[in-house]
Amino acid sequence: MFAGRMMDYPLTLTHFLERARTYHARCEIVTQNPDRTCSRATYADLHRRAAKLAHALTRLGVGPGDRVATLSWNHARHLELYLAVPAMGAVLHTLNLRLHPNELAYIAAHAEDKVVVVDRSLLPLFRKFAPQVRCIRRVIVIGDDGPVDSDGLDYEALLAPEPDHVDFPRLDERSAAMVCYTSGTTGNPKGVVYSHRSLVLHTLVSCMHDTLGFRDRDVVLPVVPMFHAAAWGLPYSAVATGARIVLPGPHLDPASLLDLMARERVTFAAGVPTIWLGILALLDEHPERWDLSAMRAMVIGGAAAPPALIDGFLSRHGLVVTHAWGMTETNPLGTVAHVRSTLDLDAAASLDTRASQGYAVPFIEQRHVGPDDRPLPWDGATMGELEVRGPWVAASYLGGEGEDRFTKDGWFKTGDVVTIDADGYMRIADRTKDVIKSGGEWISSVAIENALMSHPAVLEAAVFAARHPTWGERPLAAVVLRQGQTASKDELCAHLEPRFAKYWLPDDFLFLDRIPRTSTGKFLKSKLRDEFGDLLEKRASG
Ligand code: ADP
Repeated sequence: MFAGRMMDYPLTLTHFLERARTYHARCEIVTQNPDRTCSRATYADLHRRAAKLAHALTRLGVGPGDRVATLSWNHARHLELYLAVPAMGAVLHTLNLRLHPNELAYIAAHAEDKVVVVDRSLLPLFRKFAPQVRCIRRVIVIGDDGPVDSDGLDYEALLAPEPDHVDFPRLDERSAAMVCYTSGTTGNPKGVVYSHRSLVLHTLVSCMHDTLGFRDRDVVLPVVPMFHAAAWGLPYSAVATGARIVLPGPHLDPASLLDLMARERVTFAAGVPTIWLGILALLDEHPERWDLSAMRAMVIGGAAAPPALIDGFLSRHGLVVTHAWGMTETNPLGTVAHVRSTLDLDAAASLDTRASQGYAVPFIEQRHVGPDDRPLPWDGATMGELEVRGPWVAASYLGGEGEDRFTKDGWFKTGDVVTIDADGYMRIADRTKDVIKSGGEWISSVAIENALMSHPAVLEAAVFAARHPTWGERPLAAVVLRQGQTASKDELCAHLEPRFAKYWLPDDFLFLDRIPRTSTGKFLKSKLRDEFGDLLEKRASG
């Protein structure tokens, strides 16, 4: 082989941290505190404090590969942990504070967490599961507003005496940097171990203009929690580019987020659709209250963004939505619904494309397969399971579980049922576990939900399978109406009729105050199925 002669320079997160100090020292990190005041630090502070943290953790016995867990909201100290722990060669494990204590106990034990860093406000939750987890040796408590009087070590007191310089070790780019767990809606949660290399490559591709595109003049607001899939890589993208980062703390209601976006002149925000549905409803009620003129992109992912949401932001408020798809197993970004300039689409086709899940970002490959595992045609109609591969796609789970998700020829089975069109745009019809099969035919719950959410009286809609004595399964729709609005079942049915074959129309509409959500804010259809899955059978027999 005629080998290349370039340096073998490791792709590690340490580089981003060093670079932030060298070139972006004055760039700001803004944290909204629990009392709604804002604290401000800089990337120079980030580097200094990361050094102190690395010394402190070393003093506590944290060595290469040891897991350091966090149970924290989005704030500057969490960002310090995001950088310092991987840079010192240890592994950050972000615990999802919305999980049940039993799940947290399972996950912390499974990951073998040695040290846990906890927000003081989350100590009651921590105490519910920590006694069951024998591997935890140290607890460090982040006081939101002053020193900590508790059974743990005080984060600030721990850092105070440490030197603010450290020579971070030269790491193997394939070494582990972070562990994130899938939410485990089916079976136990599974651990996905990101390497430095996967996170660095994910960051670089995320920063490309037609992916998410970050610039140093951006002001980035990760609404997506830092305990969920590395906050979609946004903290690393911000640090890598020198963008200002605004961290919302525990205040994730629409009004608080809008206040923060307007006050800090946020240019780029990202979160799941349920957050954005609430934000759009509030903006529609008070279109003049917030100045969002700085905003240039709002990324929606984690669940399908309804076209009515994307269109509503643009047509009524001039705000651009970027729709993206990803999974914990893909670091998480996999596809982005960027409309390529060569496509030459009219407004309706452009909205349809922007509401698709998009096409694979560089270095991710996508295909969909049938039950016999053969690749299916990209015709925009044939449904099959999406498979992906690439340098930031998991090759296995921690502990070797879930082997059936990894194919022999190197693809990861996503569990999403999709179509792919001739231009490569992928559209999610369902997750395999949510699929509705009526008389042997697949019905896309996502398509019906999208159509329902385009009705002016509908705030949220989730369509799920109910068992049926004749058809096996039939769709039911759970609907939340906007405040002060009404819509009858007949009206909603009439709204759907022109768009779908008759057998796709839900057998019934259930009007709820709220659709149950998962720990990451997505609609929890398994709960709807548990509660209402036998409704049609009961009716038939009664
Ligand atoms: P979980 O939802 O199990 O907590 P993840 O956060 O990893 O785990 O979610 C990944 C799943 O979320 C994907 O497999 C897909 O079903 C769904 N998802 C992510 N982005 C989108 C999107 N833009 N549109 C529709 N579904 C999405």
